[in-house]
Amino acid sequence: MPNYDAIIIGTGQAGPSLARRLAQAGQKVAVIERKLFGGTCVNTGCTPTKTMVASAYAAHLARRGAEFGVEVAGAIKVDMAKVKARKDGVVTLSTTGVERRLRSEPNCTVYQGHGRFVSPREVQVGAEVLSAEKIFINVGGRASRPPITGLDQVNFLTNSSMMDVDFLPEHLVIVGGSYIGLEFGQMFRRFGSKVTIVEMMPRLVPREDEDVSAAIAEIMTKEGIELRLNATCIRLSRHDKGIAVGVDCAEGPPEVVGTHLLMAVGRRANTDDLGLDRAGVATDSHGYILVDDELRTNIPGIWALGDCNGKGAFTHTAYNDFEIVAANLLDGASRRVSDRIPAYALYLDPPLGRAGLTESEARRQGHSVLVGKRPMSRVGRAVEKGETAGVMKIIVDAKSEEILGAAVFGSGGDEVVHGVLDAMYAKAPYPLLRRAMHIHPTVSEYVPTLLGELSPSADPS
Ligand SMILES: Cc1cc2nc3c(=O)[nH]c(=O)nc-3n(C[C@H](O)[C@H](O)[C@H](O)COP(=O)(O)OP(=O)(O)OC[C@H]3O[C@@H](n4cnc5c(N)ncnc54)[C@H](O)[C@@H]3O)c2cc1C
Repeated sequence: MPNYDAIIIGTGQAGPSLARRLAQAGQKVAVIERKLFGGTCVNTGCTPTKTMVASAYAAHLARRGAEFGVEVAGAIKVDMAKVKARKDGVVTLSTTGVERRLRSEPNCTVYQGHGRFVSPREVQVGAEVLSAEKIFINVGGRASRPPITGLDQVNFLTNSSMMDVDFLPEHLVIVGGSYIGLEFGQMFRRFGSKVTIVEMMPRLVPREDEDVSAAIAEIMTKEGIELRLNATCIRLSRHDKGIAVGVDCAEGPPEVVGTHLLMAVGRRANTDDLGLDRAGVATDSHGYILVDDELRTNIPGIWALGDCNGKGAFTHTAYNDFEIVAANLLDGASRRVSDRIPAYALYLDPPLGRAGLTESEARRQGHSVLVGKRPMSRVGRAVEKGETAGVMKIIVDAKSEEILGAAVFGSGGDEVVHGVLDAMYAKAPYPLLRRAMHIHPTVSEYVPTLLGELSPSADPS
């Protein structure tokens, strides 16, 4: 039986970096991957979607050319085969890069196949059983299949099968009005599809403050995307024209008929076929592996990193998991998951960059909340670029002067929010940031401005 110092199951956003760190520290490492090197982000998540968002942005800007005094002759047409080819090119570079780096690492052996625990120290892959004193689980997640009536009767797409779409769906119906559904929705609308987004909740991305949700809904509607909110009783069935989606909405007809259906209703951890019971590794009721603040499972010698531990659902959280585990094991550090400040982006155009608490969360936690807020139509740089949709806001605690969070939903929002995030990590009191001199003209120059315009929070939800 091949024996290693460490076995890593899955090559998502934590596994490959951890494999290389351990191998470079002289440990003998086995890495197991059952499908595509680099996992979700590289193959069916961040990289391909943001590459396609860029194509959609190009189409949108071309259509708006006349507004900027640029004449484009004839109608704007999107060649979906070329969009896909561009996306495939970027993805191939990433995934082959991950595989090449792993295979060229002297102390690292790559196994291709499905890994399953046989015992707390053994993992089977194909016909081989590998053993190690340390095992790291980085198996990620996949699109969930909710118990929706008729789902087994119809063809539907997920974020993975969307990657093979090289044609323009005539009418794409998306079930799920959160991050993934919204990104695909705006993208395909801009490619030229009719798009309907069906959402059970009364508003889009209910995790965000109501004003941010409303600004997102306004942009989607303005671009011609139909929103069917409060769809409390979603049912699916086959139809001559494609798929009928029954929606029990407060307004509008009870059924939407589309040519294609994308299910974007959340993710589930890839832990159901991992032999966790044989290793004794505990999960919660949703299948997420239970870990402590240093990402150790209940079984000594087994760690879980990335989406499968339920502590994050992003590439940067998975990568941060790697940094925590590597620093604690190899550098004698004591880094913890609870040290990190929540941060993420929603890649619409304009993007939403988020750091820390929302206004509603801050209120619920009992802070005495002050808010600085401004529509992007009053941000000079956004006006100059003709990107005036959205809103930016910063949330602070009046008593402690702590910066609690920010939402920058506007031009460059995914980048701008990092100025606030870094100030939060530095634990800078907000008056310090208010006095900072920023570059003109930028969206970031409004961060000090907003901090000079604070007012008490009125309940945003
Ligand atoms: C459409 C979409 C867009 C996204 N956009 C963003 C974004 O813009 N920014 C962002 O931060 N995040 C984004 N995400 C989330 C991001 O992709 C994930 O959070 C990230 O990939 C999680 O990485 P991970 O390390 O947990 O595992 P994953 O990337 O999911 O990789 C897990 C790997 O393990 C392998 N595996 C699973 N089980 C086994 C097994 N038993 N044996 C062997 N191998 C196994 C899988 O094949 C896979 O390669 C997006 C996700 C989706 C779906």
